[in-house]
Amino acid sequence: MKRQYDMLVIGGGPGGALAAKTVAEKGLSVCLVEKRPAIGTPVRCAEGIGKELLTDFLPPDPKWIATEIERAELVAPDDFSMLLEPKMAGSEVGYVLDRKVFDRELVWKAAEAGAETYVKARATAPIMKNGAVAGAVIEQHGQTYEVDAKVTIAADGIESKFSKWAGIDTTVPLREIETCAQYLMTGIDIDPQMTSFFLGNEVAPAGYVWIFPKGEGLANVGIGIGGGKSGAGHRAKDFLDRFVKRKFPQGRIIELIVGGVSVCKPLSCTVADNMLIVGDAARLSDPITGGGIYNAMYTGRLAAETAVTALEMGDTSKAALMPYDAEWRVSKMGKALERNYAVKEVFVKLSDEKLNAIVHSIAKIDLDEFSTLTLITELIKANPSLLLELKHLR
Ligand code: FAD
Repeated sequence: MKRQYDMLVIGGGPGGALAAKTVAEKGLSVCLVEKRPAIGTPVRCAEGIGKELLTDFLPPDPKWIATEIERAELVAPDDFSMLLEPKMAGSEVGYVLDRKVFDRELVWKAAEAGAETYVKARATAPIMKNGAVAGAVIEQHGQTYEVDAKVTIAADGIESKFSKWAGIDTTVPLREIETCAQYLMTGIDIDPQMTSFFLGNEVAPAGYVWIFPKGEGLANVGIGIGGGKSGAGHRAKDFLDRFVKRKFPQGRIIELIVGGVSVCKPLSCTVADNMLIVGDAARLSDPITGGGIYNAMYTGRLAAETAVTALEMGDTSKAALMPYDAEWRVSKMGKALERNYAVKEVFVKLSDEKLNAIVHSIAKIDLDEFSTLTLITELIKANPSLLLELKHLR
């Protein structure tokens, strides 16, 4: 590993990979460090993504697509199920990825573009010069290096510590973390082209259960529950076990993962002198769905483009990097995060009766016109106060 780069990227997830690839393509020197020994494992993800979101970054490739999703099902607490068909299911129609392959492919593309990539290389502290980040201390194979960089991109995911070490408050309150557990199950009776979402306080308090198919009889079956709802005997895995016993008594579990998803507002500022924060590290996963793959890729690329421009201008101060922060906030993604946070705050407090009423009334709507906005309209009908909270949003 060299000791000096234009850019240092901490983390080899989708955010870090897109950042490193973008910088390398512009011909600058960039180093990506990933603390795990292999990119993409262990997978901490249900692996779902809307089709139209990916086209922005790379053409679909069967080697990292496990399944194409054609429809989605929303199941109310009273077991009433409504089907969302392709035309009206919007971004629910998409792919279930194989992230072990997908994440590796993204980092491979960064390496191919010229990024230097290091695995089992952990950033353990920022190097601070005159109060600004100037690189990081990296531990690899029992050795410690100082790596200097003109700009550092923190793409270290939900467990992110780098920004905190650099003096930025990244704390997420417990109630704004969804605690998740997921089984990869085989031998289960599912529609291999349909994702399912189960709602209800008995099923998944302040969250939902998902079934994301990965082939015939094979699916990610997972749950996220509000962090504040978790405790002895009623942790995410306890709820998941109850669901699986009821729904798939014959199924076999071949993998278990646990993890967390932030459902809070994004960091109040995602740049500092010589540093930008992207993806989950910036708390940019969707507060309703928990989805964050696209958001990480989008902000990884945008952060890199902004940093390259700043480097070319010879000014990488916080003020010079601010266009990154400003741009993602006014983007479609930024606006969706703001709106969905307000909706989530109402959603997590709904009784099962209200959830039943909402799902039943959506089922009566002209399905050709279904969209997220339809869902929000029904939520507003059930909770008029939500209208006030959404009023200031465009
Ligand atoms: P990550 O993918 O988390 O990558 C960060 C990387 O940084 C990791 O590889 C980590 O090892 C590395 N790292 C951390 N600290 C250091 C360090 N100090 N030094 C070096 N490396 C470090 N999103 C979707 O879009 N669809 C879904 O279906 C979906 N399902 C999910 C289900 C679960 C159970 C969970 C937990 C999350 C789910 N998500 C989903 C969210 C999605 O996985 C994340 O939003 C996405 O991976 C964020 O990408 P990232 O690059 O920001 O972070």
